[in-house]
Amino acid sequence: MVLKQGKTIRTDYENFIAKCPHCRHRNIFNRRTDLLTCAPISHQNVNCEKCGRSFFIGGDLAPTAWRYLIFDCYDLFKQKKYMACILNLCQACEMFFLYAIEYILIHKPEHDELFENLEQCNKFMEKLHKKIKGCTFVPLRNIVVDMCSNEKKFPSVKEIEDYINAINVTDCSTPDISGIQPEEKRQYLKVLLDLKIYKTRNNVVHKYGYRPHRDEVFPFLNGENSVKVILLDVEKIMSIDDMIVPSPL
Ligand SMILES: [Zn+2]
Repeated sequence: MVLKQGKTIRTDYENFIAKCPHCRHRNIFNRRTDLLTCAPISHQNVNCEKCGRSFFIGGDLAPTAWRYLIFDCYDLFKQKKYMACILNLCQACEMFFLYAIEYILIHKPEHDELFENLEQCNKFMEKLHKKIKGCTFVPLRNIVVDMCSNEKKFPSVKEIEDYINAINVTDCSTPDISGIQPEEKRQYLKVLLDLKIYKTRNNVVHKYGYRPHRDEVFPFLNGENSVKVILLDVEKIMSIDDMIVPSPL
Protein backbone atom coordinates (compact mmCIF):
# COMPACT_ATOMS: atom_id res chain seq x y z
CA MET A 1 0.00 0.00 0.00
CA VAL A 2 1.33 3.40 -0.92
CA LEU A 3 1.28 5.74 2.05
CA LYS A 4 -0.19 9.19 1.68
CA GLN A 5 1.77 12.24 2.70
CA GLY A 6 0.58 14.39 5.60
CA LYS A 7 0.42 18.09 4.84
CA THR A 8 3.13 19.97 6.72
CA ILE A 9 1.58 22.76 8.75
CA ARG A 10 4.78 24.02 10.31
CA THR A 11 8.11 22.84 11.58
CA ASP A 12 10.08 24.31 14.41
CA TYR A 13 13.05 23.49 16.59
CA GLU A 14 11.14 21.01 18.75
CA ASN A 15 8.15 19.88 16.70
CA PHE A 16 6.96 18.83 13.25
CA ILE A 17 3.27 19.65 12.82
CA ALA A 18 1.39 17.84 10.06
CA LYS A 19 -2.22 17.20 9.09
CA CYS A 20 -3.38 13.59 8.84
CA PRO A 21 -4.39 12.89 5.19
CA HIS A 22 -7.14 10.51 6.44
CA CYS A 23 -8.97 12.38 9.22
CA ARG A 24 -7.37 15.83 8.89
CA HIS A 25 -6.28 15.83 12.54
CA ARG A 26 -3.49 18.28 13.31
CA ASN A 27 -0.68 16.13 14.70
CA ILE A 28 2.13 17.64 16.73
CA PHE A 29 5.11 15.30 16.45
CA ASN A 30 7.81 16.15 18.94
CA ARG A 31 11.21 15.49 17.41
CA ARG A 32 12.82 13.89 20.46
CA THR A 33 9.77 12.15 21.90
CA ASP A 34 7.79 11.04 18.84
CA LEU A 35 10.13 11.11 15.84
CA LEU A 36 13.14 9.89 17.87
CA THR A 37 15.52 12.09 15.89
CA CYS A 38 16.57 15.71 15.74
CA ALA A 39 17.84 15.38 12.19
CA PRO A 40 15.78 17.09 9.45
CA ILE A 41 12.92 14.83 8.35
CA SER A 42 13.08 14.10 4.62
CA HIS A 43 10.74 11.08 4.81
CA GLN A 44 9.40 9.38 7.90
CA ASN A 45 6.39 7.13 8.45
CA VAL A 46 4.14 8.12 11.33
CA ASN A 47 0.76 7.21 12.79
CA CYS A 48 -2.01 9.73 13.31
CA GLU A 49 -2.50 10.48 17.00
CA LYS A 50 -6.28 10.54 16.49
CA CYS A 51 -7.28 7.88 13.95
CA GLY A 52 -4.12 5.78 14.23
CA ARG A 53 -3.71 5.36 10.47
CA SER A 54 -0.28 5.57 8.84
CA PHE A 55 1.06 8.31 6.62
CA PHE A 56 4.41 9.89 5.98
CA ILE A 57 5.86 13.31 6.62
CA GLY A 58 8.81 14.98 4.93
CA GLY A 59 10.28 18.05 3.31
CA ASP A 60 11.61 19.37 6.59
CA LEU A 61 13.59 22.57 6.61
CA ALA A 62 17.13 22.27 7.85
CA PRO A 63 17.97 25.67 9.24
CA THR A 64 20.63 25.90 11.88
CA ALA A 65 19.32 25.62 15.43
CA TRP A 66 19.64 29.33 16.15
CA ARG A 67 17.46 30.20 13.16
CA TYR A 68 14.71 27.88 14.35
CA LEU A 69 14.65 29.68 17.69
CA ILE A 70 14.31 33.04 15.95
CA PHE A 71 11.49 31.77 13.67
CA ASP A 72 9.58 30.67 16.77
CA CYS A 73 9.78 34.19 18.17
CA TYR A 74 7.46 35.66 15.55
CA ASP A 75 4.60 33.50 16.88
CA LEU A 76 5.55 34.18 20.47
CA PHE A 77 5.52 37.90 19.73
CA LYS A 78 2.01 37.70 18.22
CA GLN A 79 0.85 35.88 21.33
CA LYS A 80 2.38 38.71 23.41
CA LYS A 81 4.76 36.27 25.10
CA TYR A 82 7.55 38.79 25.32
CA MET A 83 9.46 37.05 28.11
CA ALA A 84 9.69 33.84 26.07
CA CYS A 85 10.69 35.90 23.04
CA ILE A 86 13.65 37.41 24.89
CA LEU A 87 14.74 34.02 26.23
CA ASN A 88 14.60 32.46 22.75
CA LEU A 89 16.43 35.32 21.06
CA CYS A 90 19.19 35.34 23.63
CA GLN A 91 19.54 31.57 23.44
CA ALA A 92 19.68 31.86 19.64
CA CYS A 93 22.66 34.20 20.04
CA GLU A 94 24.44 31.81 22.38
CA MET A 95 23.80 28.88 20.05
CA PHE A 96 25.13 30.90 17.16
CA PHE A 97 28.28 31.89 19.05
CA LEU A 98 28.97 28.30 20.00
CA TYR A 99 28.31 27.16 16.44
CA ALA A 100 30.62 29.85 15.04
CA ILE A 101 33.43 28.98 17.47
CA GLU A 102 33.13 25.26 16.70
CA TYR A 103 33.03 25.96 12.99
CA ILE A 104 36.10 28.18 12.86
CA LEU A 105 38.14 25.96 15.16
CA ILE A 106 37.05 22.48 14.18
CA HIS A 107 34.49 22.06 11.40
CA LYS A 108 35.90 24.26 8.63
CA PRO A 109 36.15 22.06 5.52
CA GLU A 110 39.88 22.75 5.17
CA HIS A 111 40.43 21.40 8.70
CA ASP A 112 39.50 17.89 7.57
CA GLU A 113 43.11 17.33 6.61
CA LEU A 114 44.48 18.64 9.91
CA PHE A 115 42.95 15.97 12.07
CA GLU A 116 44.42 12.47 11.88
CA ASN A 117 41.03 10.87 12.41
CA LEU A 118 37.56 11.45 13.79
CA GLU A 119 38.72 10.49 17.26
CA GLN A 120 41.26 13.30 17.34
CA CYS A 121 38.65 15.73 16.04
CA ASN A 122 36.23 14.64 18.80
CA LYS A 123 38.96 15.07 21.40
CA PHE A 124 39.40 18.69 20.38
CA MET A 125 35.64 19.22 20.50
CA GLU A 126 35.60 17.81 24.03
CA LYS A 127 38.49 20.03 25.05
CA LEU A 128 36.72 23.08 23.64
CA HIS A 129 33.42 22.23 25.32
CA LYS A 130 35.16 21.64 28.65
CA LYS A 131 36.79 25.02 28.38
CA ILE A 132 33.66 27.01 27.55
CA LYS A 133 31.24 24.93 29.63
CA GLY A 134 28.74 27.14 31.38
CA CYS A 135 29.73 30.23 29.38
CA THR A 136 26.86 32.51 28.49
CA PHE A 137 26.40 35.44 26.19
CA VAL A 138 29.29 37.80 26.98
CA PRO A 139 32.30 35.44 27.08
CA LEU A 140 31.04 33.52 24.04
CA ARG A 141 30.47 36.75 22.14
CA ASN A 142 33.96 37.94 23.05
CA ILE A 143 35.53 34.79 21.64
CA VAL A 144 33.57 35.30 18.40
CA VAL A 145 34.67 38.95 18.18
CA ASP A 146 38.27 37.93 18.84
CA MET A 147 38.12 35.34 16.07
CA CYS A 148 36.61 37.86 13.65
CA SER A 149 38.90 40.72 14.53
CA ASN A 150 42.17 38.81 14.45
CA GLU A 151 41.37 36.76 11.34
CA LYS A 152 42.28 33.63 13.23
CA LYS A 153 43.92 31.01 11.07
CA PHE A 154 44.69 27.51 12.19
CA PRO A 155 47.26 25.88 9.90
CA SER A 156 47.83 22.94 12.27
CA VAL A 157 46.27 21.24 15.30
CA LYS A 158 48.93 22.93 17.44
CA GLU A 159 47.39 26.37 16.75
CA ILE A 160 43.91 25.01 17.48
CA GLU A 161 45.08 23.58 20.78
CA ASP A 162 46.94 26.76 21.73
CA TYR A 163 43.87 28.84 20.97
CA ILE A 164 41.61 26.63 23.10
CA ASN A 165 44.12 26.73 25.97
CA ALA A 166 44.33 30.53 25.78
CA ILE A 167 40.57 31.13 25.94
CA ASN A 168 39.89 33.21 29.02
CA VAL A 169 36.28 32.63 30.03
CA THR A 170 36.43 34.96 33.02
CA ASP A 171 37.37 38.04 31.00
CA CYS A 172 34.10 39.86 30.37
CA SER A 173 35.64 43.16 29.28
CA THR A 174 34.54 44.41 25.90
CA PRO A 175 37.15 43.61 23.24
CA ASP A 176 38.86 46.54 21.53
CA ILE A 177 37.84 46.67 17.87
CA SER A 178 39.08 50.18 17.09
CA GLY A 179 41.83 48.99 14.73
CA ILE A 180 39.71 46.62 12.69
CA GLN A 181 39.59 47.03 8.93
CA PRO A 182 37.68 47.26 6.70
CA GLU A 183 35.26 49.72 8.22
CA GLU A 184 32.21 47.62 7.29
CA LYS A 185 33.55 44.73 9.36
CA ARG A 186 34.23 47.00 12.32
CA GLN A 187 30.69 48.32 12.11
CA TYR A 188 29.22 44.80 12.13
CA LEU A 189 31.24 43.91 15.21
CA LYS A 190 30.29 47.16 16.92
CA VAL A 191 26.60 46.37 16.44
CA LEU A 192 27.22 42.93 17.93
CA LEU A 193 29.06 44.42 20.91
CA ASP A 194 26.24 46.93 21.43
CA LEU A 195 23.60 44.20 21.52
CA LYS A 196 22.32 44.25 25.08
CA ILE A 197 19.70 41.53 24.88
CA TYR A 198 21.53 39.52 27.54
CA LYS A 199 20.79 42.26 30.08
CA THR A 200 17.05 42.02 29.38
CA ARG A 201 17.30 38.22 29.52
CA ASN A 202 19.05 38.37 32.88
CA ASN A 203 16.22 40.49 34.22
CA VAL A 204 13.62 38.06 32.86
CA VAL A 205 15.23 35.02 34.48
CA HIS A 206 15.85 36.89 37.71
CA LYS A 207 13.73 35.67 40.60
CA TYR A 208 11.43 38.69 40.25
CA GLY A 209 10.70 37.69 36.65
CA TYR A 210 10.88 40.98 34.78
CA ARG A 211 8.12 41.36 32.17
CA PRO A 212 9.45 43.34 29.19
CA HIS A 213 7.27 45.83 27.32
CA ARG A 214 6.44 45.08 23.69
CA ASP A 215 8.52 48.08 22.58
CA GLU A 216 11.61 46.68 24.32
CA VAL A 217 11.33 43.35 22.52
CA PHE A 218 10.35 44.56 19.06
CA PRO A 219 13.77 45.98 17.99
CA PHE A 220 15.48 42.70 18.91
CA LEU A 221 13.12 40.85 16.58
CA ASN A 222 12.67 43.27 13.69
CA GLY A 223 14.63 45.87 11.82
CA GLU A 224 18.18 46.49 10.76
CA ASN A 225 19.77 45.78 14.14
CA SER A 226 17.63 42.80 15.02
CA VAL A 227 19.26 39.66 16.37
CA LYS A 228 18.72 37.86 13.06
CA VAL A 229 20.36 40.57 10.96
CA ILE A 230 23.30 40.92 13.35
CA LEU A 231 23.96 37.18 13.43
CA LEU A 232 23.71 36.87 9.64
CA ASP A 233 26.22 39.72 9.27
CA VAL A 234 28.66 38.07 11.65
CA GLU A 235 28.15 34.74 9.91
CA LYS A 236 29.07 36.49 6.67
CA ILE A 237 32.28 38.04 8.00
CA MET A 238 33.29 34.71 9.54
CA SER A 239 32.77 33.07 6.13
CA ILE A 240 30.72 30.30 7.65
CA ASP A 241 29.61 27.80 5.06
CA ASP A 242 25.98 27.23 5.93
CA MET A 243 25.91 23.84 4.24
CA ILE A 244 27.75 22.39 7.21
CA VAL A 245 25.14 22.17 9.89
CA PRO A 246 26.03 20.40 13.12
CA SER A 247 23.32 18.33 14.72
CA PRO A 248 21.03 20.54 16.80
CA LEU A 249 21.58 18.23 19.77
ZN1 LIG B 1 -5.92 10.70 11.34
